[in-house]
Amino acid sequence: VNATDVIISCMSLGIMVTMNQRLDAEIITLVTDEFGYNVEFVGLDLEEMIQDDKDLEENLKTRPPIITVMGHVDHGKTSLLDHIRNTNVIAGEAGGITQHIAAYSVECINNQSITFLDTPGHEAFTAMRARGAQVTDIAIIVIAVDDQVMPQTKEAISHAQAANVPMIFVFNKMDKPNAKSDKIREQLANLNLLVEEWGGKYPSQEISAKLGTGVDKLLEKVLLLSELLDLKSNPNKPAVGTVIEASLDKGRGYITTMLLQGGTLKVGDYVLAGINHGKVKNILDERGKSIHSAGPSKPITILGLNGAPTAGDKFKVFKDEKLAKQLASRREQLQREQNIRSQKHLTLDEIGRRI
Ligand code: GDP
Ligand code: MG
Repeated sequence: VNATDVIISCMSLGIMVTMNQRLDAEIITLVTDEFGYNVEFVGLDLEEMIQDDKDLEENLKTRPPIITVMGHVDHGKTSLLDHIRNTNVIAGEAGGITQHIAAYSVECINNQSITFLDTPGHEAFTAMRARGAQVTDIAIIVIAVDDQVMPQTKEAISHAQAANVPMIFVFNKMDKPNAKSDKIREQLANLNLLVEEWGGKYPSQEISAKLGTGVDKLLEKVLLLSELLDLKSNPNKPAVGTVIEASLDKGRGYITTMLLQGGTLKVGDYVLAGINHGKVKNILDERGKSIHSAGPSKPITILGLNGAPTAGDKFKVFKDEKLAKQLASRREQLQREQNIRSQKHLTLDEIGRRI
């Protein structure tokens, strides 16, 4: 039967559809029935096919923790991240990281590394979570001792709790005259958050992000907690992870910063990320240096995708390039259809232009 007849048949059933709209199984059954046909559904769910296989215990290796720093404005998040970034540059590297980067990893004692997400405020955290992307292992909650537990501090705490992410409290600005952190400990206790030194379960650390005092101890506590969390993933499989940010660079094309959560990514791999895809042309570390491959918990920037995926999109390496492209275009089509459907006051003229 031709498409117009199908559309008319749908209309007679009270369903307004356009030429290139996807119909659900129920409607298809009704319509085929109108034409005297039986329909048999032979499902092939591509999305299901790409679900990550469960890794065998013996293939899992310890991976570095991924940390998000949150807290009230001006309590010292940026200062802390800057201090860590500038002082824990891998030995032998000339110069630190200058330009803004969304994520970086630093090496601490015993060559253990820690990955920091430099997400601006809670928005990114919430946005990523809304997309089902859980990338943080530990949340550092920064509270300035010359201030107090503020609304954004509480908000940060609830985000971490909702995501079931363990917290470490940082009492910052200890260099200030008459700095006292007990007041903050008390305020936290009133929120049912008892720090370790008061017999509770939450690690905390006094620091001065400005002078750098206490930061090493904080990093030690991060590593200690991550050991307890027993963070592991399989490095020996095609890479999977989450997109942190993406943009179009005039000279280099689309650049995508992502966090590897499992497997190893290599130059030449074929990647699907959200509705975008492409062959990895170049992998850059947080210093903008080309690297050949990267493993779990590493933040990297890649060149080679055909567009800018959205923060929180999952990415995955495909051996079968054709399947990746097929999935990308199917997702794009679904997204387009959803956009059409979610626009309530669509004029006929607009519908016409879309068709
Ligand atoms: P953010 O809004 O949480 O990122 O806070 P910033 O890192 O931008 O810090 C806000 C202000 O507090 C800046 O003027 C910093 O110089 C200052 N500051 C941050 N950490 C310290 C600290 O440890 N001691 C002192 N005295 N000032 C600090
Ligand atoms: Mg800041």
